Amino acid sequence: MGRNLVEPTDRGLYCAAGDFFIDPWRPVDRAVVTHAHSDHATWGCDRYLCSEPGVEVLRQRVQNDADIQGVAYGELLDLNGVKVSLHPAGHLLGSAQVRVEHAGRVEVISGDYKVQPDGTCDAFEPVKCHRFITESTFGLPIYRWRDDAEVTADINAWWRDNQEAGRTSVVFAYALGKAQRILHSVDASLGPVVVHGSVQRFNDVYRAAGVALPDTTTSTEESRKTCKGVGLVVTPPSTLGTPWLRKFAPYSTAFASGWMAIRGNRRRRGVDRGFVVSDHADWPGLLQTIADTGCESVGVTHGYTQALVRYLRQQGMDADIVPTRYEGESDTEQTGETTDESG
Ligand SMILES: [Zn+2]
Ligand SMILES: [Zn+2]
Repeated sequence: MGRNLVEPTDRGLYCAAGDFFIDPWRPVDRAVVTHAHSDHATWGCDRYLCSEPGVEVLRQRVQNDADIQGVAYGELLDLNGVKVSLHPAGHLLGSAQVRVEHAGRVEVISGDYKVQPDGTCDAFEPVKCHRFITESTFGLPIYRWRDDAEVTADINAWWRDNQEAGRTSVVFAYALGKAQRILHSVDASLGPVVVHGSVQRFNDVYRAAGVALPDTTTSTEESRKTCKGVGLVVTPPSTLGTPWLRKFAPYSTAFASGWMAIRGNRRRRGVDRGFVVSDHADWPGLLQTIADTGCESVGVTHGYTQALVRYLRQQGMDADIVPTRYEGESDTEQTGETTDESG
Protein backbone atom coordinates (compact mmCIF):
# COMPACT_ATOMS: atom_id res chain seq x y z
CA MET A 1 0.00 0.00 0.00
CA GLY A 2 1.01 3.60 -0.25
CA ARG A 3 2.33 3.26 -3.75
CA ASN A 4 -1.12 2.90 -5.28
CA LEU A 5 -2.45 5.92 -7.15
CA VAL A 6 -5.98 5.28 -5.93
CA GLU A 7 -6.70 4.35 -2.33
CA PRO A 8 -9.91 3.88 -0.32
CA THR A 9 -10.95 6.61 2.13
CA ASP A 10 -14.03 7.14 4.28
CA ARG A 11 -15.60 9.16 1.46
CA GLY A 12 -14.72 6.85 -1.41
CA LEU A 13 -11.80 5.97 -3.66
CA TYR A 14 -9.31 8.86 -3.76
CA CYS A 15 -6.46 9.76 -6.08
CA ALA A 16 -4.17 11.96 -3.99
CA ALA A 17 -1.83 12.90 -6.84
CA GLY A 18 -4.74 14.31 -8.85
CA ASP A 19 -6.85 15.36 -5.85
CA PHE A 20 -10.13 13.77 -7.00
CA PHE A 21 -12.50 11.07 -5.81
CA ILE A 22 -13.99 8.24 -7.82
CA ASP A 23 -17.64 7.40 -6.97
CA PRO A 24 -17.56 9.15 -3.56
CA TRP A 25 -20.54 8.50 -1.28
CA ARG A 26 -20.31 11.90 0.42
CA PRO A 27 -20.12 15.29 -1.27
CA VAL A 28 -16.57 16.23 -2.34
CA ASP A 29 -15.00 18.97 -4.48
CA ARG A 30 -14.32 16.84 -7.50
CA ALA A 31 -16.03 13.53 -8.25
CA VAL A 32 -15.26 11.28 -11.18
CA VAL A 33 -18.40 9.15 -11.52
CA THR A 34 -18.37 5.73 -13.22
CA HIS A 35 -22.16 5.60 -13.64
CA ALA A 36 -25.42 6.98 -12.34
CA HIS A 37 -26.64 4.18 -10.06
CA SER A 38 -27.33 5.77 -6.71
CA ASP A 39 -24.61 3.88 -4.85
CA HIS A 40 -21.98 5.33 -7.22
CA ALA A 41 -23.32 8.83 -7.82
CA THR A 42 -23.84 11.00 -4.77
CA TRP A 43 -25.70 14.27 -4.59
CA GLY A 44 -24.01 17.57 -3.66
CA CYS A 45 -20.50 17.44 -5.15
CA ASP A 46 -19.04 20.73 -6.45
CA ARG A 47 -17.90 19.27 -9.75
CA TYR A 48 -18.65 16.02 -11.55
CA LEU A 49 -16.80 14.35 -14.36
CA CYS A 50 -18.39 11.47 -16.27
CA SER A 51 -18.57 10.09 -19.80
CA GLU A 52 -20.32 12.19 -22.40
CA PRO A 53 -23.21 9.72 -22.89
CA GLY A 54 -23.59 9.60 -19.10
CA VAL A 55 -24.14 13.33 -18.50
CA GLU A 56 -27.94 13.39 -18.84
CA VAL A 57 -28.30 10.12 -16.94
CA LEU A 58 -26.26 11.54 -14.08
CA ARG A 59 -28.24 14.76 -14.15
CA GLN A 60 -31.36 12.76 -13.24
CA ARG A 61 -29.54 11.63 -10.12
CA VAL A 62 -27.83 14.72 -8.72
CA GLN A 63 -28.82 18.33 -8.17
CA ASN A 64 -30.40 19.89 -11.26
CA ASP A 65 -27.86 22.64 -11.70
CA ALA A 66 -24.88 20.37 -10.95
CA ASP A 67 -21.60 21.17 -12.66
CA ILE A 68 -21.18 18.05 -14.81
CA GLN A 69 -18.36 17.77 -17.30
CA GLY A 70 -18.73 15.07 -19.93
CA VAL A 71 -15.71 13.58 -21.63
CA ALA A 72 -15.68 11.32 -24.68
CA TYR A 73 -14.60 7.73 -24.10
CA GLY A 74 -10.84 7.44 -24.51
CA GLU A 75 -10.15 11.18 -24.41
CA LEU A 76 -7.23 12.12 -22.15
CA LEU A 77 -7.72 14.75 -19.46
CA ASP A 78 -5.14 16.25 -17.17
CA LEU A 79 -6.27 16.56 -13.54
CA ASN A 80 -3.48 18.20 -11.55
CA GLY A 81 -0.84 16.34 -13.53
CA VAL A 82 -2.63 12.99 -13.51
CA LYS A 83 -3.82 11.65 -16.85
CA VAL A 84 -7.45 10.53 -16.62
CA SER A 85 -9.59 8.85 -19.26
CA LEU A 86 -12.90 6.99 -19.27
CA HIS A 87 -13.58 3.73 -21.08
CA PRO A 88 -16.87 1.86 -21.73
CA ALA A 89 -17.99 -0.47 -18.94
CA GLY A 90 -21.02 -1.98 -20.72
CA HIS A 91 -23.14 -1.67 -17.56
CA LEU A 92 -25.67 1.00 -18.58
CA LEU A 93 -25.83 4.16 -20.69
CA GLY A 94 -22.70 6.21 -20.06
CA SER A 95 -21.09 3.74 -17.65
CA ALA A 96 -17.32 3.99 -17.59
CA GLN A 97 -14.14 2.55 -16.20
CA VAL A 98 -11.70 5.16 -14.98
CA ARG A 99 -8.09 4.96 -16.16
CA VAL A 100 -5.57 6.93 -14.10
CA GLU A 101 -1.93 7.38 -15.12
CA HIS A 102 0.82 9.08 -13.18
CA ALA A 103 4.62 8.75 -13.19
CA GLY A 104 4.53 5.70 -15.44
CA ARG A 105 1.94 3.82 -13.40
CA VAL A 106 -1.55 2.97 -14.73
CA GLU A 107 -4.54 2.01 -12.59
CA VAL A 108 -8.07 1.24 -13.78
CA ILE A 109 -11.18 1.40 -11.59
CA SER A 110 -13.90 -0.67 -13.18
CA GLY A 111 -17.04 0.67 -11.54
CA ASP A 112 -19.76 -1.88 -12.32
CA TYR A 113 -19.24 -3.65 -15.63
CA LYS A 114 -20.70 -6.25 -17.94
CA VAL A 115 -18.68 -8.00 -20.61
CA GLN A 116 -21.49 -9.07 -23.00
CA PRO A 117 -22.74 -6.22 -25.19
CA ASP A 118 -26.50 -5.53 -25.13
CA GLY A 119 -27.22 -2.70 -27.55
CA THR A 120 -28.27 -0.09 -24.98
CA CYS A 121 -24.78 1.26 -24.27
CA ASP A 122 -21.21 1.19 -25.55
CA ALA A 123 -19.69 -2.28 -25.25
CA PHE A 124 -17.16 -3.05 -22.53
CA GLU A 125 -13.48 -2.69 -23.42
CA PRO A 126 -10.70 -4.14 -21.26
CA VAL A 127 -7.95 -1.60 -20.51
CA LYS A 128 -4.30 -2.51 -19.88
CA CYS A 129 -3.04 -1.46 -16.46
CA HIS A 130 -0.68 -2.23 -13.59
CA ARG A 131 -3.49 -2.37 -11.06
CA PHE A 132 -7.16 -3.14 -11.70
CA ILE A 133 -9.85 -2.42 -9.14
CA THR A 134 -12.72 -4.70 -10.05
CA GLU A 135 -16.24 -5.03 -8.75
CA SER A 136 -17.29 -8.54 -7.67
CA THR A 137 -21.07 -8.38 -7.35
CA PHE A 138 -21.34 -11.87 -8.86
CA GLY A 139 -17.86 -13.06 -7.87
CA LEU A 140 -18.70 -16.70 -7.24
CA PRO A 141 -18.28 -19.62 -9.68
CA ILE A 142 -22.02 -20.36 -9.54
CA TYR A 143 -22.78 -17.19 -11.52
CA ARG A 144 -22.60 -17.90 -15.26
CA TRP A 145 -24.96 -16.07 -17.58
CA ARG A 146 -26.79 -17.69 -20.47
CA ASP A 147 -26.91 -16.13 -23.88
CA ASP A 148 -29.07 -12.96 -23.91
CA ALA A 149 -31.08 -14.16 -26.93
CA GLU A 150 -32.19 -17.29 -25.06
CA VAL A 151 -33.40 -15.29 -22.07
CA THR A 152 -35.21 -12.83 -24.32
CA ALA A 153 -36.96 -15.72 -26.07
CA ASP A 154 -38.07 -16.98 -22.64
CA ILE A 155 -39.49 -13.58 -21.74
CA ASN A 156 -41.38 -13.32 -25.03
CA ALA A 157 -42.81 -16.86 -24.61
CA TRP A 158 -43.89 -16.09 -21.04
CA TRP A 159 -45.60 -12.90 -22.24
CA ARG A 160 -47.51 -14.85 -24.93
CA ASP A 161 -48.53 -17.52 -22.40
CA ASN A 162 -49.87 -14.81 -20.10
CA GLN A 163 -51.86 -13.28 -22.96
CA GLU A 164 -53.49 -16.63 -23.65
CA ALA A 165 -54.45 -16.85 -19.99
CA GLY A 166 -55.73 -13.26 -19.98
CA ARG A 167 -53.07 -12.01 -17.57
CA THR A 168 -50.96 -8.85 -17.68
CA SER A 169 -47.21 -9.58 -17.72
CA VAL A 170 -45.35 -7.68 -15.00
CA VAL A 171 -41.55 -7.58 -15.09
CA PHE A 172 -39.74 -6.15 -12.08
CA ALA A 173 -36.52 -4.49 -13.18
CA TYR A 174 -34.46 -1.65 -11.74
CA ALA A 175 -35.52 1.66 -13.20
CA LEU A 176 -32.14 2.60 -14.66
CA GLY A 177 -30.37 0.21 -16.98
CA LYS A 178 -32.14 -3.09 -16.51
CA ALA A 179 -35.57 -1.76 -17.47
CA GLN A 180 -34.26 -0.19 -20.69
CA ARG A 181 -32.36 -3.34 -21.55
CA ILE A 182 -35.52 -5.45 -21.20
CA LEU A 183 -37.51 -2.96 -23.28
CA HIS A 184 -34.80 -2.83 -25.96
CA SER A 185 -34.73 -6.61 -26.38
CA VAL A 186 -38.31 -7.75 -25.86
CA ASP A 187 -40.71 -8.30 -28.81
CA ALA A 188 -42.91 -5.24 -28.35
CA SER A 189 -45.08 -6.20 -31.32
CA LEU A 190 -46.80 -8.61 -28.90
CA GLY A 191 -48.75 -5.88 -27.16
CA PRO A 192 -48.79 -2.51 -25.39
CA VAL A 193 -46.08 -1.63 -22.88
CA VAL A 194 -46.70 0.40 -19.73
CA VAL A 195 -43.86 1.51 -17.44
CA HIS A 196 -43.58 3.07 -14.02
CA GLY A 197 -42.78 6.80 -13.99
CA SER A 198 -39.30 6.13 -12.61
CA VAL A 199 -38.62 3.94 -15.66
CA GLN A 200 -40.14 6.40 -18.14
CA ARG A 201 -37.83 9.17 -16.93
CA PHE A 202 -34.80 7.15 -17.93
CA ASN A 203 -36.46 5.86 -21.11
CA ASP A 204 -36.59 9.46 -22.29
CA VAL A 205 -32.89 9.92 -21.59
CA TYR A 206 -32.03 6.71 -23.46
CA ARG A 207 -34.16 7.67 -26.46
CA ALA A 208 -32.54 11.08 -26.58
CA ALA A 209 -29.18 9.27 -26.73
CA GLY A 210 -30.39 7.27 -29.74
CA VAL A 211 -31.13 3.94 -28.03
CA ALA A 212 -34.04 2.15 -29.71
CA LEU A 213 -36.89 1.54 -27.26
CA PRO A 214 -40.50 0.62 -28.04
CA ASP A 215 -43.28 3.10 -27.30
CA THR A 216 -44.03 3.16 -23.60
CA THR A 217 -46.68 4.96 -21.61
CA THR A 218 -47.05 5.53 -17.91
CA SER A 219 -50.06 4.23 -16.02
CA THR A 220 -53.27 6.08 -16.84
CA GLU A 221 -56.86 4.93 -16.89
CA GLU A 222 -56.63 4.64 -20.65
CA SER A 223 -53.26 2.86 -20.84
CA ARG A 224 -54.39 0.38 -18.17
CA LYS A 225 -57.49 -0.42 -20.17
CA THR A 226 -55.46 -1.35 -23.26
CA CYS A 227 -52.73 -3.09 -21.25
CA LYS A 228 -54.80 -5.27 -18.94
CA GLY A 229 -54.62 -8.96 -19.78
CA VAL A 230 -52.42 -8.50 -22.86
CA GLY A 231 -49.72 -5.94 -22.17
CA LEU A 232 -46.35 -5.80 -20.51
CA VAL A 233 -45.63 -3.71 -17.41
CA VAL A 234 -42.02 -2.87 -16.56
CA THR A 235 -41.63 -1.48 -13.07
CA PRO A 236 -39.13 -1.37 -10.18
CA PRO A 237 -39.31 -4.20 -7.60
CA SER A 238 -40.42 -1.69 -4.96
CA THR A 239 -43.90 -1.59 -6.59
CA LEU A 240 -44.57 -5.25 -5.74
CA GLY A 241 -47.81 -5.40 -3.75
CA THR A 242 -48.67 -1.72 -4.16
CA PRO A 243 -52.06 -0.28 -5.21
CA TRP A 244 -50.28 1.12 -8.28
CA LEU A 245 -49.57 -2.40 -9.47
CA ARG A 246 -52.85 -3.98 -8.39
CA LYS A 247 -54.69 -1.92 -11.00
CA PHE A 248 -53.16 -4.19 -13.67
CA ALA A 249 -54.58 -7.39 -12.11
CA PRO A 250 -54.93 -10.17 -13.01
CA TYR A 251 -51.23 -10.51 -13.71
CA SER A 252 -48.23 -12.79 -13.63
CA THR A 253 -45.01 -11.41 -12.15
CA ALA A 254 -41.35 -11.95 -13.00
CA PHE A 255 -38.10 -10.53 -11.65
CA ALA A 256 -35.24 -9.83 -14.04
CA SER A 257 -31.96 -10.04 -12.15
CA GLY A 258 -28.69 -11.91 -11.88
CA TRP A 259 -29.86 -13.00 -8.43
CA MET A 260 -32.49 -15.15 -10.12
CA ALA A 261 -29.67 -17.60 -10.93
CA ILE A 262 -30.03 -18.88 -7.38
CA ARG A 263 -32.87 -21.24 -6.65
CA GLY A 264 -35.02 -19.92 -3.85
CA ASN A 265 -34.53 -16.24 -4.64
CA ARG A 266 -37.57 -16.21 -6.90
CA ARG A 267 -39.77 -17.63 -4.16
CA ARG A 268 -38.22 -15.31 -1.60
CA ARG A 269 -39.10 -12.35 -3.80
CA GLY A 270 -42.64 -13.60 -4.12
CA VAL A 271 -42.72 -13.58 -7.92
CA ASP A 272 -43.97 -16.22 -10.37
CA ARG A 273 -40.93 -16.26 -12.64
CA GLY A 274 -37.26 -15.33 -12.50
CA PHE A 275 -35.30 -14.26 -15.57
CA VAL A 276 -31.54 -14.24 -15.18
CA VAL A 277 -30.65 -10.87 -16.69
CA SER A 278 -27.71 -9.10 -15.13
CA ASP A 279 -25.81 -5.96 -15.98
CA HIS A 280 -22.73 -7.19 -14.12
CA ALA A 281 -19.94 -9.52 -15.20
CA ASP A 282 -20.44 -13.17 -14.29
CA TRP A 283 -17.65 -15.29 -12.82
CA PRO A 284 -16.01 -16.18 -16.16
CA GLY A 285 -16.39 -12.54 -17.24
CA LEU A 286 -14.61 -11.28 -14.14
CA LEU A 287 -11.70 -13.70 -14.54
CA GLN A 288 -11.36 -13.08 -18.28
CA THR A 289 -11.36 -9.34 -17.74
CA ILE A 290 -8.73 -9.49 -15.01
CA ALA A 291 -6.54 -11.53 -17.36
CA ASP A 292 -7.20 -9.15 -20.29
CA THR A 293 -6.03 -6.10 -18.33
CA GLY A 294 -2.61 -7.71 -17.91
CA CYS A 295 -2.52 -6.26 -14.40
CA GLU A 296 -0.02 -7.29 -11.75
CA SER A 297 -2.31 -6.50 -8.83
CA VAL A 298 -6.07 -6.69 -8.37
CA GLY A 299 -8.14 -4.70 -5.90
CA VAL A 300 -11.53 -6.31 -5.30
CA THR A 301 -14.53 -4.34 -4.12
CA HIS A 302 -18.29 -4.35 -4.14
CA GLY A 303 -19.67 -7.87 -3.66
CA TYR A 304 -18.06 -11.26 -3.01
CA THR A 305 -14.69 -9.69 -2.31
CA GLN A 306 -13.30 -12.41 -0.04
CA ALA A 307 -14.18 -15.27 -2.36
CA LEU A 308 -12.66 -13.59 -5.40
CA VAL A 309 -9.51 -12.46 -3.56
CA ARG A 310 -9.00 -15.98 -2.20
CA TYR A 311 -9.40 -17.48 -5.65
CA LEU A 312 -7.01 -15.00 -7.30
CA ARG A 313 -4.35 -15.60 -4.62
CA GLN A 314 -4.66 -19.33 -5.18
CA GLN A 315 -3.85 -18.61 -8.82
CA GLY A 316 -0.69 -16.82 -7.65
CA MET A 317 -2.00 -13.30 -8.20
CA ASP A 318 -1.47 -10.28 -5.99
CA ALA A 319 -5.02 -9.48 -4.83
CA ASP A 320 -6.51 -7.48 -1.98
CA ILE A 321 -9.88 -6.26 -0.77
CA VAL A 322 -10.59 -2.58 -1.36
CA PRO A 323 -13.11 -1.63 1.29
CA THR A 324 -16.03 0.57 0.27
CA ARG A 325 -19.21 1.51 2.00
CA TYR A 326 -20.99 -1.14 -0.04
CA GLU A 327 -19.49 -4.29 1.41
CA GLY A 328 -22.92 -5.69 2.27
CA GLU A 329 -24.48 -4.73 -0.99
CA SER A 330 -25.13 -8.25 -2.21
CA ASP A 331 -27.76 -8.71 0.45
CA THR A 332 -29.16 -5.24 0.00
CA GLU A 333 -29.54 -5.90 -3.70
CA GLN A 334 -31.28 -9.16 -3.05
CA THR A 335 -33.95 -7.47 -1.01
CA GLY A 336 -33.86 -4.47 -3.30
CA GLU A 337 -35.50 -2.29 -0.69
CA THR A 338 -32.92 0.39 -0.15
CA THR A 339 -31.20 0.73 -3.49
CA ASP A 340 -32.06 0.81 -7.15
CA GLU A 341 -28.66 -0.59 -7.90
CA SER A 342 -29.20 -3.31 -10.39
CA GLY A 343 -28.33 -6.99 -10.08
ZN1 LIG B 1 -24.37 -0.12 -11.09
ZN1 LIG C 1 -22.75 -0.81 -8.03
